[in-house]
Amino acid sequence: MTKAKGYAAQNAKDDLTPWSFERREVGPHDVQFDILFCGVCHSDLHQVRNEWGGSIFPMVPGHELVGRVTKVGEHVTKHKAGDLIGVGCMVDSCRTCNNCKEGLEQFCAEGCTMTYNGYERDKKTLTYGGYSNATVVNEDFVLRVSEKLNLAAVAPLLCAGITTYSPLRHWKVGKGHKLGVLGLGGLGHMAVKFGVAFGAEVTVLSSSPSKKEDALKLGAHKFLVTSDKEQFQAAAGSFDFILDTVSAEHNYSQYMTLLATNGVHICVGAPPTPSEIFSFSLIMGRKSLAGSLIGGIPETQEMLDFCAEHNIVSEIELIDIKDINKAYERMLKSDVRYRFVIDLATL
Ligand code: NAP
Ligand code: ZN
Ligand code: ZN
Repeated sequence: MTKAKGYAAQNAKDDLTPWSFERREVGPHDVQFDILFCGVCHSDLHQVRNEWGGSIFPMVPGHELVGRVTKVGEHVTKHKAGDLIGVGCMVDSCRTCNNCKEGLEQFCAEGCTMTYNGYERDKKTLTYGGYSNATVVNEDFVLRVSEKLNLAAVAPLLCAGITTYSPLRHWKVGKGHKLGVLGLGGLGHMAVKFGVAFGAEVTVLSSSPSKKEDALKLGAHKFLVTSDKEQFQAAAGSFDFILDTVSAEHNYSQYMTLLATNGVHICVGAPPTPSEIFSFSLIMGRKSLAGSLIGGIPETQEMLDFCAEHNIVSEIELIDIKDINKAYERMLKSDVRYRFVIDLATL
C-alpha cells in the first residue's frame, strides 16, 4: 500500500476536511498517476450529502481526474510513465457481460466500479476519488489526454463532457435539429458546446437571467428565461430535443410542452427526489422521456479526441482545495461559471 492524502467527507453533515489514506500497490495491469486537476461535479455534492442514499463514508469525492503517469505495471501496454491521462466516473467493470463487451461499461450487468463511493470488484475495498494527490487505476479505464489543451479545463470532460456528448451522439442530434439545453451549469455548458459543434440550433433554457451573455458567448443561438411566462409560451412546440441537466426537483411535464412532435426530453440531471409526469405530456405529440448515464470507455476516448481536434474544453474556475466547501455552497445557488476545478498542487 502507498500513502495518499486528500479531502474527505467523514459523514453526510460535516464539511470536507484533509484526510490521509492508502492506495493499492501498482498491479500488473495498473497505472499509477499524480492527479494534477480534478473537476467538481454536482454528483459529488449529491453523494457527499447522501442525497441519493447509500453513500459510504469516509468519502473522497472526485471523478473528473487528469494527471501524469508515474508508474505502470509490468503488463501495461496502453500507457507509460510521463503520459498525460484522464479518469472519469468508472475504474472497473465485469468485462464479460453484453454491455461491457459493447463498450457500455456504465451499464455493466454486475454494476461498474465507480471511481469513488463504490467497491472494487472484490466487493470489499472502498474506492476513493480524485480530490487527492495520486491514485492507481486499471489501464483499461485510463484515457489518453492530448498535450494540446489546457489540462485543468480538460478535467471536466471526464464527466460533464461525456455525459452530454454521449446522448447527443446516441440521438444523432445535429444539423436541422433544435436543441434546448435545460440548466446552464457544468453539464449544461458542455451540452451547448457539443450541440453547436454538431450543427444543432441551440437554445439555453435557464432559471438565471444573468447567464444570457455567457450562453451566447458559448455559442448558443438563443436564450430563454424559464420563469418568463411569455418567453416560455412563445417557445411551445419548438424543440426536437431537450437535454435536461437540472440538479434539483422540477416539473418535466411543463418542459415537455416545449417539445415539437416526436420530440425527446433527455434527462441527465439527477435530482434526488422523484417527479410526477402526466401521460398526456407524452401522448400529445408522441413525445419521449429518456435518460442517459455518462458514457462507455470507448466513447469517452472518442469524445476526448473530438475535443482535442475541435479545441473544446470546459469553462472553469480553478480553486484551492481548501475552498471546496465554499464551492459546494456556490454550486447549490446555481453560481458555477461553469465548472469548479481543484488544483491539486494546493493540497
Ligand atoms: P451544476 O453545475 O450545479 O448545474 C446545474 C444547473 O441546473 C444549475 O446551474 C442551474 O442552471 C440549474 N438548476 C439548479 N437548480 C435548479 C432549480 N431548482 N430549478 C431549475 N434549474 C435549476 O450541476 P452539474 O454538475 O452540471 O450536474 C447537473 C446534474 O446532473 C446533477 O444532478 C448531477 O448529479 C447530474 N449528473 C448526471 C450524470 C449522468 O450520467 N446522468 C453525470 C453527471 C452529473 P440555471 O442557472 O441555468 O438554471
Ligand atoms: Zn459527474
Ligand atoms: Zn459487465
